[in-house]
Formats: sequence, C-alpha cells, structure tokens
Amino acid sequence: MKDTAIFEALQLELKRQRENVELIASENYVSEEVMAVQGSILTNKYAEGYPNKRYYGGCEFVDTIEDIARNRAKQLFGAKFANVQPHSGSQANMGAYRAVLEPGAKVLGMNLSHGGHLTHGHPLNFSGKDYEFYEYGVSDETETIDYEVVRQIALEVKPALIVAGASAYPRAIDFKKFREIADEVGAYLMVDMAHIAGLVAAGLHQNPMDYAHIVTTTTHKTLRGPRGGMVLTNDEEIATKLDKVVFPGIQGGPLMHVIGAKAVAFGEALTPDFVEYQKQVIKNAKVLAEELAKHGLRIVSGGTDNHLMLVDVKSTFGLTGKVAEAVLDRVAITCNKNTIPFDTEKPFVTSGIRLGTPAVTTRGFKEAEMIELAGYIAEALKYHEDEEKLAQIRQSVLGLTGRFPLYENR
Ligand code: PLP
Repeated sequence: MKDTAIFEALQLELKRQRENVELIASENYVSEEVMAVQGSILTNKYAEGYPNKRYYGGCEFVDTIEDIARNRAKQLFGAKFANVQPHSGSQANMGAYRAVLEPGAKVLGMNLSHGGHLTHGHPLNFSGKDYEFYEYGVSDETETIDYEVVRQIALEVKPALIVAGASAYPRAIDFKKFREIADEVGAYLMVDMAHIAGLVAAGLHQNPMDYAHIVTTTTHKTLRGPRGGMVLTNDEEIATKLDKVVFPGIQGGPLMHVIGAKAVAFGEALTPDFVEYQKQVIKNAKVLAEELAKHGLRIVSGGTDNHLMLVDVKSTFGLTGKVAEAVLDRVAITCNKNTIPFDTEKPFVTSGIRLGTPAVTTRGFKEAEMIELAGYIAEALKYHEDEEKLAQIRQSVLGLTGRFPLYENR
C-alpha cells in the first residue's frame, strides 16, 4: 500500500520545485543519477568502520563505493586524506573540531550575523557549548573581512584554532592570509568551504587545501551532491585522529546510499561541464547583483565574487527580510531572510535577504533570465501591498520557470 500522505506531499513538493525560482544559496538540484543512488538498496547496508576494516560482513561492494568516493574527493580538491562519512556539514565540523581541539579550547570564528555558521560558535550549538568561541566580523566601511583586524583579534585571543569560511559572505576569502595569521599565533587553520566547495572544485576560488590544516564541507550546495558532509586534510596525524573521531567517536553506521551518491556527484564535478556550470553560477550572481542594484537595491559590500549576494531590503524599501521573503514567496520566488552586517533586527526578522544562483544555473538560467528575474524581485518588493500586481508578477515567474522544465521524467 502506498503511503498517500507522504507521496501526496512529495508530489506537491515536486510541483513547488518546478514552479518556483529557487534562490536559496545553499540549495541545488541534484542529477537523476545522484538521486537514483541515494534512493537505492544501499540504504539497507550497515558498514560501521572503514573500507577493509568493517565491523559487519557483506561489505565488499560498499567498500568499493566508499573507496571511489574518497579517491574522487581527494582528486577533486587535491587532498591526501578524505573522510566521506559525516552525515552533514555540522557533523563534519564536529569531527574536525574534535580531531584537533581539547574541550574548552579557544576558537576564533566569523561572527554569525556577519556570515558565519551556527557551528562556528553559536551559544545554543554544540560548538558554542564545547569550545570558547571568539569572533571576527566584517569592516563597517567595506562590509568585507579586514585581515589586519582578524590578525589583531587573533594576537589578543591566542586561539588554538581559527575557522575561516561562511554561510553568507559574498566575497572571495583569502585563505593564505588566514594561514599566515594562524601561523603567527600558533593556531590550526580550519576552512569550512561548505558554500563554495563547487567553486573550489572548478578552480574558480582559492583552494583551501593549499593552506588549511583541515577542511570541511557539505556535499550539497554548490557541489551539487546529496545532503551530507566531508572532511579533508593533508596531514596524516590529523587524518588518523579524524577517522577515529567520526567513527566511533560521533557516528555509528555510515549512510552508504549517501556515500554512493556523493561518489556520483564527485564524478560529475570532475568533468569539464561542471567547470562551465560553476563559471555560469558566478556570472549569473554578478548579473543578478548588478541588475538589482540598477533597480535601486543596496547589495551588501557592493556586489559578489561568488554564488551569492546579500540584499539590504530595509534601506531601499523599508522592509524587513522576513516580509521580503514572504512577499517573494507569493510570486513564486524562494529565498531566505538573512541578517546583514551590523543588522539592528533580530535574526528571525533581519534587514536582508540572501540570494544565490547555484539552483537556477543548474536549471539552465543564464544572464537574460537573471535580468528578467531582477525585475520581478524589485517589482514585487516595491509593490508588496498591491495584490493585483503581485498576482501578475507571479504569472510572469511561472512563465519563466515553465520555460525550464525540471525532473521531466518524474
Ligand atoms: N558550514 C557552513 C558554512 C554552512 O553554510 C552549513 C549549512 O548551511 C553547514 C556548515 C552545516 O551543514 P548541514 O546543514 O549539512 O549541517
């Protein structure tokens, strides 16, 4: 018997994904092949341990799969060691912290309202509870990281670890400078490249493997794989500790169906098509930011170098991020409210929205669609109280997505 409650909701979600323009910067559309492996019989298999060192029988084929996933990950990022078992980006970060830190150690990470992630020291997150977090942010003038300020804070705090990487930072991050600061204060450098991993894989962003002691990432987002995490390092000692921390330290059986899907996604990321895709992601983000600016919207830091941008909706239209997110949802454009640097609104309200181009680029949108989309966004925000106008914009957005079919065989 089919579970109609779930399958009906699933069909509605497919319809939503097809109809809406997806601008959540951390989302993407995986390939049919990634999905086929993730939704496969691999979900049935227990495989505690690592290839050739399992605590269960019958692991010969999942060993092959995990070996391929690890090797492709190493090739993709130029890493000597890869652990592909973390169930999520948060667990990758927990694994990395535990591999190099003692409980209570001092860590310097990015201020969460300036772009850092929950796992970079939020008081309610394990990171903020297990370690003594200090923060750096962006300059109030440029809204970008001022590396000299980071250095000064690091000299004062003397952290055991510095975390570079963010969830909402629209500019390139200079990992080389972070490493120089880490070396000066005797700290490890961890890079959380979750958001930009696809750009790094395509050679379009400085590769943190050249500078960091340990690198964590999600495998979804720009990398366009299944939801999951991964940790990379070139340091054998850290790699040995890390493997023990991930299993048996913080996880039990690995999700072999997800690891299989990760392997497929890494294979896709090794192709020339993927490089072209990432180039288009960046081009689309630039055009979207420029066009929104032409419509009078203030873009935090004046633009973007990567796949995302922060739009200050308060200074232009007097809206909160929360209202802007809801208005855009009504015209079938999905995004998320986001704090902007020095935001005076609470994190659940915010003064900004975060927009990203990985998903729409997978769908086939190019510069022309970005220009069209910027117009719809600006109009919807401007006429946010005009029901008729919003209904018209919604029809136009549905027309746009209708031109780019998604998952046609489902
Ligand atoms: N690190 C960064 C920079 C992120 O943006 C995210 C997710 O948004 C994570 C880690 C956590 O990933 P997950 O949601 O898979 O736990």
